[in-house]
Amino acid sequence: MGKERIKELAGELAGEISKEIKNDIRKLGKKTFHMGGVHPEANKFAHGMSVETFPLPDQAVVYMTQHLGAPANPVVQKGDKVKVGQLIGEANGFVSANIHAPISGTVNRVDMIADISGYKKPAVVIDREGDDWMEDIDTSDEIIREIKLGKDEIIARMKDRGIVGLGGACFPTHIKYMLKPEQKCEFLIINAAECEPYISTDNRVVLERTEQCIIGIEIALIASGADKAIIGIEDNKPRAIAKLVEAVKGHPKIEVQPLRIKYPQGAEKQLIKAITGRSVPNGALPISVGCIVNNITTMYVLYQAVQKNKPIVQAYTTVSGKSVPAERCKNFRIRLGTPIKAIMDAVGIPEDTGKIIAGGPMMGKAVANLDAYAGKGMSSLLFLSEKEAARGEVSNCLRCGKCVEACPMGLEPYRLQAFSELNRLEDCEKYGIMNCIECGSCQFTCPSNRPILDFVRVGKAKTGAMIRARAAKK
Ligand code: SF4
Ligand code: SF4
Repeated sequence: MGKERIKELAGELAGEISKEIKNDIRKLGKKTFHMGGVHPEANKFAHGMSVETFPLPDQAVVYMTQHLGAPANPVVQKGDKVKVGQLIGEANGFVSANIHAPISGTVNRVDMIADISGYKKPAVVIDREGDDWMEDIDTSDEIIREIKLGKDEIIARMKDRGIVGLGGACFPTHIKYMLKPEQKCEFLIINAAECEPYISTDNRVVLERTEQCIIGIEIALIASGADKAIIGIEDNKPRAIAKLVEAVKGHPKIEVQPLRIKYPQGAEKQLIKAITGRSVPNGALPISVGCIVNNITTMYVLYQAVQKNKPIVQAYTTVSGKSVPAERCKNFRIRLGTPIKAIMDAVGIPEDTGKIIAGGPMMGKAVANLDAYAGKGMSSLLFLSEKEAARGEVSNCLRCGKCVEACPMGLEPYRLQAFSELNRLEDCEKYGIMNCIECGSCQFTCPSNRPILDFVRVGKAKTGAMIRARAAKK
């Protein structure tokens, strides 16, 4: 399936939208950020595919590290019986998140098990027996519209139900809403941009769970105290834009803002700039300019947590690739802990596969260990052909400046790569390596195929460790 099919799909979808809504959308205009950015092929092959429920695994391996921050502490042991939604890992420290059983059955063991990186992580292994949910979780399809919880109760519920950002980073959501007295959130920015190529789950969640997403945003408005929520969405999703524009009528605090297609539009700072015109200073958080940013699928799981008491027990995952037959490019809801190999078997690995990526092709990570299991943040499983995966021959830097032009953070990537290679960490710090958002735009645009992002990632990690060590000495 190539560009033609995508155009065809866009045409079909656009054809469904009424004139009135088209006019409403036109009036909204289109915004974007202006510094840097690139235009990779969208390849949204699964855009038109409804989210399917992936078969339950017979055994789930549930990592305690499905979020940014400290691993959760397992609170079950071998032989324990668990139900779906039961707490099995407790957040360990301020930046951490609770983990809940994705299947019901018996705990087989608590162990160290390699994740997609190949490194062993603490995990709870559950052998499935049936599909019994905790009694206090509402599993019905009924939409609950009335929001009964107040601000503090909502934030406590986010924490309790293990809600993390599903836009990629898996940052524990409740922390964003725990504002200091001097902080005020003016704008709640909802990221529905989905600018990473291939990934389509946000688009599908908007199309299939529109009202629940809007209720989730109303809940987040209460938690943030913001006066306005603005949903940013790239204009290659005409049907989702139309659905949202229609759905926010009657919700005066929620607006929709179409965005021009540009990567990395969904990155926090770029999205804030595009929508509000505000610049988040280097080293500062969005709240410093009065914003909180959350992904749209996170709003859906927030709805489930607050209105249904449901924790995150499944990932929303696009399975796709240029060599994957069109009918097998799909969107799934997959119980956490499902073997990646089971997903590969169900889709059928294309013969020419050279690399499998978890997450998008720009910011995702190569799957180094195929005996790994699905986690909360697995937004896609992408099969790259050998040709796509092959790196071009690396040649000397031409000093062409293309990487500088592409960097949305105003950095000099060629310089950062050189400093990182030479282990000149003070220079990495001086030239702002900690502001790198690891978007990969520099590497994407480099005519000399230089592995800029690889070196910048290493340099950033080392520089961060150096800064922390220095602070600890003071
Ligand atoms: S884009 Fe590549 S060749 Fe051009 S300046 Fe940057 S690193 Fe050098
Ligand atoms: S240096 Fe970092 S922020 Fe800049 S383009 Fe490269 S990866 Fe993106």
